[in-house]
Amino acid sequence: MKILVINAGSSSLKYQLFDMENGDVLAKGNCERIGSGGTITHKRPGKENYYAEVDLPSHDDALVLVLDLLVSEEYGVIGSIDEIDAVGHRIAHGGEKYKQSTPIDDDVIAYLETIVPINPLHGPPAIKGMKACRRLMPKTPQVGVFDTSFYSNMEDFRTIYPIPYEYYTDYKIRRYGFHGTSHRYVSAKAAEVLGKPIEELKIITCHLGNGSSITAVNGGVAIDTSMGFTPQEGVPMGTRSGSIDPTVIPYIMKLKNFTPEQIEDLLNRESGLLGVSGVSNDNRNVAKAAAEGNYRAGLAIKILVNSIKKLIGSYVAELNGIDALVFTAGIGENDSSLRSNVCAGMDFFGIKIDEDANSNAPSGKNVNISAKDALVQTLVIPTDEEYMIALDTAKFC
Ligand code: AMP
Repeated sequence: MKILVINAGSSSLKYQLFDMENGDVLAKGNCERIGSGGTITHKRPGKENYYAEVDLPSHDDALVLVLDLLVSEEYGVIGSIDEIDAVGHRIAHGGEKYKQSTPIDDDVIAYLETIVPINPLHGPPAIKGMKACRRLMPKTPQVGVFDTSFYSNMEDFRTIYPIPYEYYTDYKIRRYGFHGTSHRYVSAKAAEVLGKPIEELKIITCHLGNGSSITAVNGGVAIDTSMGFTPQEGVPMGTRSGSIDPTVIPYIMKLKNFTPEQIEDLLNRESGLLGVSGVSNDNRNVAKAAAEGNYRAGLAIKILVNSIKKLIGSYVAELNGIDALVFTAGIGENDSSLRSNVCAGMDFFGIKIDEDANSNAPSGKNVNISAKDALVQTLVIPTDEEYMIALDTAKFC
């Protein structure tokens, strides 16, 4: 069985074609600058990459190009588009309706259109991607896999903000959570690595990348998570502030005479690691500057570490203890120094890592970095959201 996974962004379209017999990626790539030029990078394992600058006015054009490449004599990996058994779409927001992955039909698209106001950045491109696939591959089943659905069992007292209740009933302002596909994948993988049924485990998963979130998983069910109404809440990120005192926002707006768009920009694109360090949004650059003695870079990292620790502590309290702590995504998988700083001084919780195992953890592998006498298993698990989407999609074939 072959599954094509599509992740449509505002000006990009990422794709991966899986052979589900063995989980192999047959081809993957990315169309970028859709609507303002266009490029494509197409990769096949063990073969030379293909890169081209092409005119891509729309997501439809990008998808036509991708499908052409997948079957092309020179760069293709399948004989015909009919070999694709189903298409899985990464959808950031499923609103309150989609509690699990769902076959896409007119009703699903119509519902997703109604929630664009609460998902303005990711909703429209995802809808464009789905519509393009349905037009170009009308007989192939399409499945939506929602980042929010992993959180659909979160209890009301963890999702409702303490503001007048009507803002929830009238405008659906509540906590939804994001990165669910990644947290779902790594928590399941952690159970597999530990050789225990996930139903018996309490796990805290730290997805730390350019965007970051932390999730408490009890018996395979996400009970709380750090991102809320949008992917802004929680820990500081590359350019996002994460949680701050909400009164700072109107205060800055009045001080600077900012419009809502300007303050959104400040909090989404100029804050986080970039805003505090003044160096970069990229953790590698900030860590390097910190190591060279740059005060603001060091401060940015300390704020990030402290914020992660506070969330882990609060989730240990909510879960009444944990069995496993998992690090994943660009920072979580690769930055051993950050992992060490986060885990330092948490032996009270049973979290204790083996510093050698941590600093020597090979990249791209599932690694247990716990100290021998640790009560909590600390793991590094590479995330694979696309494969999780393919697995969900395959269930509908
Ligand atoms: P992601 O969004 O998951 O691709 O993660 C991107 C983040 O991971 C960036 O801030 C990178 O600087 C960070 N990252 C990637 N590799 C490393 C590394 N070897 N050491 C530290 N940070 C890294």
